[in-house]
Amino acid sequence: MIKIDFSLAVSLYLILTTCLVLLALVLENRKKQKQFSSEKNFLWQCSICTYVYVDSRHNKISQCPRCGSYNNKEKP
Ligand SMILES: [Zn+2]
Repeated sequence: MIKIDFSLAVSLYLILTTCLVLLALVLENRKKQKQFSSEKNFLWQCSICTYVYVDSRHNKISQCPRCGSYNNKEKP
């Protein structure tokens, strides 16, 4: 039988747990980056003045910073 010090066992447990949490965070970040990776999703073109701008806060409706009109995101 292998003799393991109690503090060694606790530290091993803590290290393993930390690694698992970090791995989960990295995987979650990677998933999010995949979802919003393309900047095309943030590009808007105003239907009134044809001004092209970036708006990452809105998904469906965005306000043109130039003329103030609202634009709908239309997917082809
Ligand atoms: Zn506009």
